[in-house]
Amino acid sequence: MWQRGGVHSSAPVDVDLALVGGGGAASLVLAALDRHDVGGLRIAVVDPVHRRGQDRTWAFWDHPGNDLDPVLAASWQQVEVATPERRRVLDLTPLRYAMLRSGPVYDRAAEAERRLGVTRIGAPADVLDDDGDRVTVRTGDGGPVVRASWVLDSRPRPPRRAGRTNWLQHFRGWWLEADGPLFDPSRAILMDFRTPQPARGVSFGYVLPVSDRYALVEYTEFTPSLLTDAGYDAALAGYRDLLGLDPSRLRVREVENGVIPMTDAPFDPRPSPRVVRLGTAGGATRPSTGFTFSAMHRQAEQVARALAAGRPPVPAPAYPRRHRWMDAVALRALDRGGVGGPEFFDRLFDRNPASRVLRFLDGTTTPAEEVALMNTTRLVPMLAATLGDAAGRLRDRVDPTRRGTTWTVPPAVVGDRSPADG
Ligand SMILES: Cc1cc2nc3c(=O)[nH]c(=O)nc-3n(C[C@H](O)[C@H](O)[C@H](O)COP(=O)(O)OP(=O)(O)OC[C@H]3O[C@@H](n4cnc5c(N)ncnc54)[C@H](O)[C@@H]3O)c2cc1C
Repeated sequence: MWQRGGVHSSAPVDVDLALVGGGGAASLVLAALDRHDVGGLRIAVVDPVHRRGQDRTWAFWDHPGNDLDPVLAASWQQVEVATPERRRVLDLTPLRYAMLRSGPVYDRAAEAERRLGVTRIGAPADVLDDDGDRVTVRTGDGGPVVRASWVLDSRPRPPRRAGRTNWLQHFRGWWLEADGPLFDPSRAILMDFRTPQPARGVSFGYVLPVSDRYALVEYTEFTPSLLTDAGYDAALAGYRDLLGLDPSRLRVREVENGVIPMTDAPFDPRPSPRVVRLGTAGGATRPSTGFTFSAMHRQAEQVARALAAGRPPVPAPAYPRRHRWMDAVALRALDRGGVGGPEFFDRLFDRNPASRVLRFLDGTTTPAEEVALMNTTRLVPMLAATLGDAAGRLRDRVDPTRRGTTWTVPPAVVGDRSPADG
């Protein structure tokens, strides 16, 4: 364990706010606290790992002109959505599609920690004992390491019980460096459904270019289970070939693997009075897309504003309840084969302004816009999924064994390919 100033101590640190888990969600909270006037707040971060460097790339859409501008790796006003039938270019104005690499996000959080005088505890937290007034954070041996008025807990953890649909968004990406101009940096490929489709689920590729010679090219599946290492490499090489990229002109500089839950299972955002869960563990991952970043960013701002105003650091739910219901229905329709994934997304983008679809996927549309969106999906399968979802909810209510079911997100398949293999 280490603490501020390198002091080792077995007495618990007394703070106002403890961040348990110091990854994406906590890094955004630290930067937001630094931006707001939270002077005098005593803060601790508990995480066995001090996250640094490039371990993930975040892509998301937002309105330009916010705190993320200085740390963005790239942003695009135009994106492409491709299906076997057509390639559609979408103008996102007034939104943008943006990419952030984790390194600058972690660096910014480290700088915020320094300025806020945060105590860092490099140990894994285990139990959080909440007496309603203070929370004691304990490590595996039961030792108390922190006592806090509030805990923001973003440790990865499974949902309260399994969902009715439990899918994974899983992917492998290569950061490709070309020997000459090969990519179009003015445009990203958001979703390219020309990839061979799995028997159950959806697959797509995408391209995020930061320059004409450097881009992240990724292969993604929304399916119930993972591929093998060789399976990801083959799918990604296939997508590279589909794009017409000559491998002899490319070097793989970095490899990125990930698994994100796509489920209607309940994540508990408030497990006890003074513990608030953030990030994926708190339900910030949108079930129908796996996108998480925008909700984490939104909630970080809400937490910081609340603390600056002397209020409890409890953000609004990551997504409105009706969005979680619509996602459960959409996931069910995709899973039970009623709706094809490429067709589903193609129709959404074909029949709605891009900014409406993207705001819907972020959970920020109005009910009237959602009705308009729903009207553009195929009626019969969506109706069948709606009825199936209602029946599933009823079954869950009357069958208590359902409440005991569990589901966990498996770790990503990490290959042994060296980035320089090309
Ligand atoms: C490779 C990858 C790419 C992604 N790309 C996107 C994207 O493009 N867009 C998007 O919207 N979302 C994306 N996501 C999803 C989501 O945004 C990220 O997973 C994000 O990092 C989630 O933040 P988090 O804080 O919930 O979890 P994490 O960032 O994983 O942080 C959890 C932290 O908890 C710590 N921890 C674990 N156990 C303990 C313990 N016992 N005690 C204390 N600390 C502990 C870990 O060390 C870690 O630092 C991606 C995810 C991955 C894995």
